[in-house]
Amino acid sequence: MQVKDVLDLMKAEDVEYVDVRFTDPKGKLQHVTLVADLVDEDFFEEGFMFDGSSIAGWKSIDQSDMKLILDPASAYIDPFYAEKTLCVHCNVVEPDTGEAYSRDPRGTAVKAEAYLKASGIGDVAYFGPEAEFFLFDDVKYQITPQKVSFEIDAVDAAWNTDSSYEDGNLGHRAAHKGGYFPVNPIDAAQDIRGEMLSTMKRMGIKVDKHHHEVATAQHELGMIFGGLVQQADNIQKYKYVIHNVAAAYGKSATFMPKPMKGDNGSGMHVNMSIWKDGKPLFAGDKYADLSQEALWFIGGIIKHAKALNALTNPGTNSYKRLIPGFEAPVLLAYSARNRSGAVRIPWTESPKAKRVEARFPDPSANPYLAFAGLLMAGIDGIKNKIDPGPASDKDLYDLPPEELAEIPTVCGSLREALEELEKDMDFLLAGDVFTRDQLEGYIKLKWEEVYAYEHTPHPIEYAMYYSC
Ligand code: GLU
Ligand code: MG
Ligand code: MG
Repeated sequence: MQVKDVLDLMKAEDVEYVDVRFTDPKGKLQHVTLVADLVDEDFFEEGFMFDGSSIAGWKSIDQSDMKLILDPASAYIDPFYAEKTLCVHCNVVEPDTGEAYSRDPRGTAVKAEAYLKASGIGDVAYFGPEAEFFLFDDVKYQITPQKVSFEIDAVDAAWNTDSSYEDGNLGHRAAHKGGYFPVNPIDAAQDIRGEMLSTMKRMGIKVDKHHHEVATAQHELGMIFGGLVQQADNIQKYKYVIHNVAAAYGKSATFMPKPMKGDNGSGMHVNMSIWKDGKPLFAGDKYADLSQEALWFIGGIIKHAKALNALTNPGTNSYKRLIPGFEAPVLLAYSARNRSGAVRIPWTESPKAKRVEARFPDPSANPYLAFAGLLMAGIDGIKNKIDPGPASDKDLYDLPPEELAEIPTVCGSLREALEELEKDMDFLLAGDVFTRDQLEGYIKLKWEEVYAYEHTPHPIEYAMYYSC
């Protein structure tokens, strides 16, 4: 949509309010609601001033003025507000110079797309993220200096309990992990997911499917691939819809990567391909019908994966997912066959659909920073002809210990990922796509989470050490 289309839509829908939305460094969507009369053609040109000092990791109070520039391509009618409201995602710019604010994640994603073009490697990069999530009936979380308690009430109660077959006849209830793929009534979230997907479709997102996932109470909705910024916007819309539809059903949705011990966590696999002159750059005659460029792209992802983890797996909880046995990757290897490596090449007969799937990202990531980071790593791989080494077609979880020890792994903790990013950030700084100031600010913000986590007694420590 162009500005004129948005203004026409506002008129046709008799819009009362315009919600201007932007994403903070941690990935949370923020908003301000404006009376629709304020928003005309000039407003799109001039932008909207706001106080950026209240956003964690942005400007200090003495230099807090910032400006939002609305991107008409992202506009949609809000499906939840009682008053008719148009929502628009924005980039943050410096009010005096009009330059992109260096710590604005969406601005970074815009710069990453431009950098690809300027590099001459390709004209467009397509992204297909697959974000998984859990639906719980009620979650109570309490933290005090003395006590941390976390309790999931009646998790997925209608169709799932932690019961196993030993519990006898469960009637129509699924046994533990029994929810993937039987029809309802075992899959009791059909209608919620259907409403989520239809809502997304009405907002203009191209969608294709929804299904229960492998873990108890875990789900996934499918979106059709698109450009980097567009898909990062779509992930923000996806999360917004899922949280709000879940709330309307009295449930709560979480994109936390590992909410339950002993069951699969939630990944956000990212499928990627580059096109040049209207042709798919990743299709060729090398391993798994990939091109040489695609193999170098994989080489870049694997080389920088540990630093990327700070962006793609940005929480302390992220590293509880990246363990063996739950379809989440641990080893920095690639393969066309198994799902246990960090990078998979999904099978397809069509050269147009040839793509590379990074499996380590999770849905707690800021999508703008994660996608931009992955693209920058891949471009670095192509520019520097980084050989990814041979593919690993065995089930990596079953390798003998001596072979296993030779394969590098993803980071084991957020602490390690931040240290890796501190050491390896030049590939992100190329072309000023990310800036040092931005990454330093991000790392500082994330160290606070590491300290909060490491300094807080954990419930399991009471079980392990209380009576020592
Ligand atoms: N839930 C798995 C993960 O953590 C992925 C399952 C799948 O392949 O869809 O990445
Ligand atoms: Mg999945
Ligand atoms: Mg996948």
